[in-house]
Amino acid sequence: MYRAPRGTTDILPDEQVYWSFIRQKAYEISVLYGYRRVDTPAFEDAGLFVRSIGEDTDIVEKETYTFDDRSGDKLTLRPEGTASICRAYIEHGMHTLPQPVRLYYDAAIFRYERPQAGRYRQHHQYGVEALGEGDPALDAEVIDMAWQFYANLGLKGLSPILNSIGCSVCRPTYLNSLMEYYTKHRNAVCSDCRRRLERNPLRLLDCKKPSCVPLTEQAPRSTDHLCPDCSDHFSRLSSYLRLLNLPFVTNHRLVRGLDYYTKTVFEIAPEREESAQATVGAGGRYDDLIEQLGGRPTPGIGFATGIERLILNMKKQKIIVPQSAEPFVFVAHISQQAKDEAMKLASLLRRSGISVIPSLGDRSLKAQLKQANSMGANKAVIIGEDEAKSGTVVLRDMAKGEQNIVPRDVVVETLRKTYHRFVLVENRITCAIMKVG
Ligand code: ATP
Ligand code: MG
Repeated sequence: MYRAPRGTTDILPDEQVYWSFIRQKAYEISVLYGYRRVDTPAFEDAGLFVRSIGEDTDIVEKETYTFDDRSGDKLTLRPEGTASICRAYIEHGMHTLPQPVRLYYDAAIFRYERPQAGRYRQHHQYGVEALGEGDPALDAEVIDMAWQFYANLGLKGLSPILNSIGCSVCRPTYLNSLMEYYTKHRNAVCSDCRRRLERNPLRLLDCKKPSCVPLTEQAPRSTDHLCPDCSDHFSRLSSYLRLLNLPFVTNHRLVRGLDYYTKTVFEIAPEREESAQATVGAGGRYDDLIEQLGGRPTPGIGFATGIERLILNMKKQKIIVPQSAEPFVFVAHISQQAKDEAMKLASLLRRSGISVIPSLGDRSLKAQLKQANSMGANKAVIIGEDEAKSGTVVLRDMAKGEQNIVPRDVVVETLRKTYHRFVLVENRITCAIMKVG
């Protein structure tokens, strides 16, 4: 028996209401803030992620799905969205467009993680990137957009957490003082942290082990080591956020799991939730990344949110998503001749924009109507031998159980008044049908 691979899930039809609701809201907020959709391949040259995310990060060290394809090219399934978008920005010369270029995506993300609630090996992210502008007003826009997106989904109790981790000018001095501090406490930290001390000291602040948390509290703070440019950026961003009434908090321990971030980093998480899977969305500025990938120096900032985590939080908060009723008509037949007519009618109804489920096989009318009922049909159109001969149908209201005989050429119009669904195409298609019929 095959099962979905560990850490992946099938998104079944009943669950899709959440997905279409979230995607609709993502689309709406993107349009409101001037972002345009971009889709990049699910896999990229492995080097792209090593270069951008960083060799010594958890993602690149332990979480990527990397493989050689049949021609020996080394490829990686995308473990995040930003690197691909920056690659596309460079590849398609987007620096010639008006800056910043505002893009959004909605894509499957692959990380070899230990599966648990809210943590999967394939998950989905909605994300935005604004490329080509370093103004902290843009950071405020992205955080505001994320915030508004959650509000539009009906999520409550979230809080944006903010930090600045400096830039290539001021970070080295900060890392030195961080390493000095942790070297003194080398014996008190966990083995992972001892390794981080050698390879990626910023990540020391991110350790969630109870033995390490108190040390992170006392650790030197990046915001005390910012150069004048980064310091000015951070204080202007903070005042823009206050201007927009965004209730953010700062946290000096917030660093992100990817090396490309500079200056602003932020996360949005439920206020009173300490689980490792609490964060619903996160982002930051990456002013050196495009240059590192071979482009011209181009600042950028982005944000991404995990759709599965959104759904988890929406369910926790008992948020009800609108269920689209999807009305449809069941077409039933009695006898072979009637079945031919039923097939023609079902096809005509569908071309007129009415959803139809036709009866298949040859069962009794009772069985067919029972099926129509259990599927939730609004109406049934029944064609028996008499109706087939006389060019009529029986039209049955499934809820009331009432039925009457209607000429076949009238039934399409009658149903269209209530059940037509595809307004945009209906004129074109009905015209064609009218000529034929
Ligand atoms: P975490 O700290 O939870 O591991 P992260 O810092 O690795 O998250 P990002 O790289 O910032 O996550 O990804 C953005 C968002 O994608 C996260 O805030 C989260 O909502 C979601 N996400 C990340 N990893 C997973 C996963 N394995 N399964 C489901 N959602 C995920
Ligand atoms: Mg992670």
